[in-house]
Amino acid sequence: MRAFDYVSPTSTRQAANLLSSTWGNTEILAGGTDLLALMKEDVVTPKRLVNIKEIADLRGVKSDSSGLRIGSLTTLAEVAEDAGVREKYPAFAEAVHEAASPQIRNMATVGGNLCQRPRCWYFRNGLGLLPKDESGKELVEEGDNRYHAILGNDGPARFVSPSTIVPVLIVYGAKVRLEGPKGKRELPLEKFYVIPKTDRDREHDLLPNEIVTEVVIPAANGWKVAHYEIRQKAAFDWPLAVAAVALKMDGSSVQAARVVLGHVAPTPWPSPQAEAALKGQPANEDSAKKAADAALANAKPLSQNAYKVQLARVAVKRAILKAAGGAA
Ligand SMILES: Cc1cc2nc3c(=O)[nH]c(=O)nc-3n(C[C@H](O)[C@H](O)[C@H](O)COP(=O)(O)OP(=O)(O)OC[C@H]3O[C@@H](n4cnc5c(N)ncnc54)[C@H](O)[C@@H]3O)c2cc1C
Ligand code: SF4
Repeated sequence: MRAFDYVSPTSTRQAANLLSSTWGNTEILAGGTDLLALMKEDVVTPKRLVNIKEIADLRGVKSDSSGLRIGSLTTLAEVAEDAGVREKYPAFAEAVHEAASPQIRNMATVGGNLCQRPRCWYFRNGLGLLPKDESGKELVEEGDNRYHAILGNDGPARFVSPSTIVPVLIVYGAKVRLEGPKGKRELPLEKFYVIPKTDRDREHDLLPNEIVTEVVIPAANGWKVAHYEIRQKAAFDWPLAVAAVALKMDGSSVQAARVVLGHVAPTPWPSPQAEAALKGQPANEDSAKKAADAALANAKPLSQNAYKVQLARVAVKRAILKAAGGAA
C-alpha cells in the first residue's frame, strides 16, 4: 500500500470539501471492506483518504413520511437486525442477511455496498474496468469470462454489478440521496448505476466529491416482494445470479410487477420484458416460466458463461413464485 493523507471530517459538507473534483486523487473510506483490498493491491492509489466514519448524521435507520431512511454509514449487520426493516421490508432484510459473512456485515456499510467496485478479476488485477491488451483486444472477450455479463454486454463493459442488496432495493422503489459541494440531489436507485463507455467513466452516477448520504425506501404498500440468489456454495462468496421481484396483485392476477436481475450485467438489470409478461396473468408456474424466459430472451453469453443464462432464468422464476406466495 502507498502512503496517503488521512482526514476524518465530522460533517458531510466538510467531507465533500476535502474530496477532489477529479477521480484518482481522493477516496471515501467507510467500512473499508472493499476499498482497503483495492488499495493493498495498488488498484486504487488515492493521495488522500477521507474517513467518513466520524460523521454521526450518516448513521442509523429512521422512519418518516417518505418511508424508511437508512443512513449510508449504517452497517449491514445493523440493517439485518433492525426490527422496522425486518417487519416492513423482509425481502430486503433477507438479502442483507445473506450478503458476505458476519465479520464483513459488522464492518460493511450500506453506502459502501452501493458504491463497491466490481469483482471482475481483470479490474482487481489492475487492468481497468474495460481491460484491453497492448494490441487493443478486449481481455474479457478473449480470456476467462465465466463470471462476466450475459446482458448489457455489447461492450466495452462486461463486468457484473456486484451488490446483492441493490436489486431488491430497486424493486422496493428505493432512492439514493447524495451530497456534494454543489448541494444535495436524489435519484431513483436504478439510475445511480451506469455502464461506463470509456476508461474515464465510473459505474456510478457519482461525482468524485459527492457522498451517498442515505437510502430511502418508500412504504411497501401492498407490494409482495421476494429476492432469490443462486450461489455456487452456501458460504461468503458472490452469487452467480440474483433476481428480485415485486408483485402488486389484483385478486389472483398480477396488476403490476417489478423485476430486477443482479450479477448478469454491468448494472442491476430491470426487465420490462418480464414485467410485461406477468401483467394481467395469474402468478403461477406457467406465467413465472414465461416471464423468466422473457427476462433472458436478449441474453448474449460470452464464450464461457452460457450456463449463467439458465441460472438467471431459474432465479427469476423462483423469485416470482416466492413473491406470489409471500408477504411484502
Ligand atoms: C468475502 C466478501 C464477500 C462479500 N459478499 C458480498 C455479497 O454477497 N453481497 C454483497 O452485496 N456484497 C458482498 N461483499 C461486499 C461488501 O458488501 C462490500 O465490501 C461492503 O458493503 C462495502 O462497504 P464498506 O463500508 O466496507 O465500503 P468501503 O470499502 O469503505 O468503500 C467501498 C467503496 O465505496 C466508496 N464509498 C463508501 N461509502 C461511500 C459513501 N457514503 N458515498 C460515496 N462513496 C462511498 C468507497 O470510496 C469505495 O470506493 C463481500 C465482500 C467480501 C470481502
Ligand atoms: S476469513 Fe473471514 S475473518 Fe478471515 S479475513 Fe476472510 S472474511 Fe475476514
